[in-house]
Amino acid sequence: MEADSTTYENNSKSSDDICLPFSSNPEDLKFYKVLISHIGNCSLESQLIEKLQSLGLIPEKVTCPENKPDCKVSLKSARVVDRFQWLCKGCGKRLPIRTGTFFFRLQCSILQALQIIFAWCEDADVYTAAQFFDVKPKVACSIYDRLDELAIEQLHKYKLGGENAVVMSEMYPDCLNRLSPDTTDQAHVHQILMMADTKHIPTYYKLHVIQRDPKRLRSNTDKDEFLEEEIKASLLRVAKPGSMLVTGNNVPLIDRTVPLQQVIAHCNVNMQHFLCSRIWRQALVLCSAARELCSGAADSCSAPLQRYLDTASYRLRHPRHFYEHTLRALAADVTHPALLDCF
Ligand SMILES: [Zn+2]
Repeated sequence: MEADSTTYENNSKSSDDICLPFSSNPEDLKFYKVLISHIGNCSLESQLIEKLQSLGLIPEKVTCPENKPDCKVSLKSARVVDRFQWLCKGCGKRLPIRTGTFFFRLQCSILQALQIIFAWCEDADVYTAAQFFDVKPKVACSIYDRLDELAIEQLHKYKLGGENAVVMSEMYPDCLNRLSPDTTDQAHVHQILMMADTKHIPTYYKLHVIQRDPKRLRSNTDKDEFLEEEIKASLLRVAKPGSMLVTGNNVPLIDRTVPLQQVIAHCNVNMQHFLCSRIWRQALVLCSAARELCSGAADSCSAPLQRYLDTASYRLRHPRHFYEHTLRALAADVTHPALLDCF
């Protein structure tokens, strides 16, 4: 469907009792409703642009690419899809309102883009969301891809642990019998190294899908050197220098790590329970959910699996106001007032 005014009206009318085909966080839903709501006589489009400007997703002002002495750009209503565009009083140059923003060249209305971003924040199925918001699946997928990349980039910025801090590790699904019962029928094709930072609430995780190196499968020895190398490399990549690396019962002992048993010997019962079990609660949910993505062919699905685990652990770090957080992160990542680069 063409992005036009009917799209806006249909959605704004029912914003008080929205029935979505996916579950959503109440705070995110509230923010979404405010974003798409329409108050008073001003058009929804102008109100939406104002809100997006306050989030930084659309710049407050832009510089004219002609950059002549009497150039002065302001927002003007126009007969275009977005109903507004930038117009330079000096030289008459017009620029799309989307120039220099996340929405540039996106084949859907700005409102639809915000709806798909909302669906991504709630971890909704992309095809369900595309159908519901009447966006082409290809366009919805491209938005999901860009958000995945943004989440992964943000996730990689932050390492676990630090000086005098503990980074725990445990292996999935090897740990399942002890930590929680295995309730899915899907076969365990992948091993996932779970790593956790104990000093954050909610717990910060990094979940690393173990690569199935063909050399590793051929080696066929009791001591799996390839696996140990991979675990070591992951821990060093993920943990800040000076962290105390604690390996759970199902992780092979490697240099410079401390076995869990040795650590819990000095802890009280509550702490023991936390370090042995509770700390992995949410990571186990993600690992278990990731199994649905697994096609059974380990080589072909480890990349999408890793992508899912990364974006899901990024979501987990922001249990509150994630939709607003994502919009602001997008603004910081994409929007810039100088539009010269875009031409
Ligand atoms: Zn100009």
